Order: sequence, then structure tokens, then C-alpha cells
Amino acid sequence: MRVPMIAGNWKMNTTVTEAVALVNEMRRGLDEIDNVDKVICPPFVSLATVRELIKESSIKLGAQNIYFEEKGAYTGEISPLMLADLCEFVIIGHSERRQYFNETGEMINKKVRAALRAGLKPILCIGERLEENEAGRTEEVVTEQLRSSLAGIDYPSGLIIAYEPVWAIGTGRAATGKQANETIGFIRQIISQKYGKKIAQDLRILYGGSVTADNTAEFMQQLEIDGALVGGASLKANEFLSIVKQTSEIKQVR
Ligand code: PEP
Repeated sequence: MRVPMIAGNWKMNTTVTEAVALVNEMRRGLDEIDNVDKVICPPFVSLATVRELIKESSIKLGAQNIYFEEKGAYTGEISPLMLADLCEFVIIGHSERRQYFNETGEMINKKVRAALRAGLKPILCIGERLEENEAGRTEEVVTEQLRSSLAGIDYPSGLIIAYEPVWAIGTGRAATGKQANETIGFIRQIISQKYGKKIAQDLRILYGGSVTADNTAEFMQQLEIDGALVGGASLKANEFLSIVKQTSEIKQVR
């Protein structure tokens, strides 16, 4: 049985002061919900402060990016060792990083390897762009993204995958539950071919792309979908709480 997960990607939002206020607003409510891994991913500069605020709670912490070298002359970068000291999860390969920071499959692969080596749990994001979707190339694109991101990795212990169609991220145009379920089922098959049935069955695969309190139920009712990576809606305490609560209730009766 896979434990569902809801991860909030705060992106480049919140000052440290605002992050503290947001955590204070949602901490108690989140802590009361069980049967779901609740992960928040604030900006790097707030990680240490947020870590202190949630240390007595069941809320888990993730970062939004990582560099693949352990240390050295890489001004401005954050290493796996630094993150492993602070948090449990790290988002890797988000489409915004692929698009605005030219992250390639090779770089993402190095980041996933570095995260796993440091004992971090990568939330690896994959997903097709609109034109690829319209050309019927979704399966081809996610297959290639999985191949390059996971190249040379024998056993991806701790890995989580987030299927995030790029056209659904921040657009208010979510995929349907059925579409997302089909693609996530396909991703699980690819993982099964590469790593075997057991690893594929145990692997958590999230959906991401304009998830809100209003459409959460549609996604969580799907058997292949193990939770969500939530952007915009994770910045609103009540909405995020509602997404986590609904997930807990729906997955519990499944
Ligand atoms: C994301 O940042 O990964 C995301 C899915 O954003 P949003 O929920 O705002 O579409």
C-alpha cells in the first residue's frame, strides 16, 4: 500500500517572514491529518526557519532544487550535503527549471544521483509540453525523460515521480483525472520494465498541474495517482489543508 503524498511547491514566493506566517496558519491543521505524507517546499532561504517551526509536527520538508556537486567553487549553488542536513525531499527537474534555466536530461540525472547519494528523496518531475500533447507524443516524451533522468541508477530508493503536464502548470487548465491516471499508469509500466514489478508497485507517482481544492477529488479517486504536487494552491493555507484532507479521506476508503 502506497502512502499518499501531497507536496506544496511554494516556488519563488514568500519572504522568511511570510513563510513563517504561512506555516503558522497551516501547521496545526496539517498535523491533525494522517494517512498522507504532507510535504512543504519553501524557498531555500526559509528552509532552516521552517524546519524549526515544524520539528514537533508530522509535516515534512523539501527543497525546490539542488546542485549535483558536493562542495566547492560553485558560487550561489546549494549542495546535496547542505540539503540533507535540513530536509528530506527535493524537487528535481521541474519544468520551470527545464524551461528558464536550461536544465537538460543529463543535468537532471546528475541531480537525481547526487540527491540519492546524500540520502535525499527526489521528487522527479516529468511531463510533456502542449505541442507534444497535441501531437500525441506524451508517452514518447515521458519515456525519454525517465530514460535520461534515471540513466545508470540501479535502485532508486526513496524516489518519487511527479507527472506534471507542462500545459497544466500554473494555467488553471488541469488534466482530467482519467488522462492523468492513464499517463501515470504508463509511467509505472516503464518503471516496472526498468526496475521490476515490486519497485514499480511501491513507487509513489503524483499528479501536478493546477490542482485545487475543487478538483482534488477527481485526481485522488484514480487508482494510479498517489497524491499531488501543488503549486499555487499550496500558498493558501485553507486550500492546501482542504487538498490534504480530501486526499486522506479518499485514499483511506480506497
Ligand atoms: C507546480 O509548481 O509543480 C505546479 C503544479 O503548479 P500549479 O499547481 O500552480 O499548477
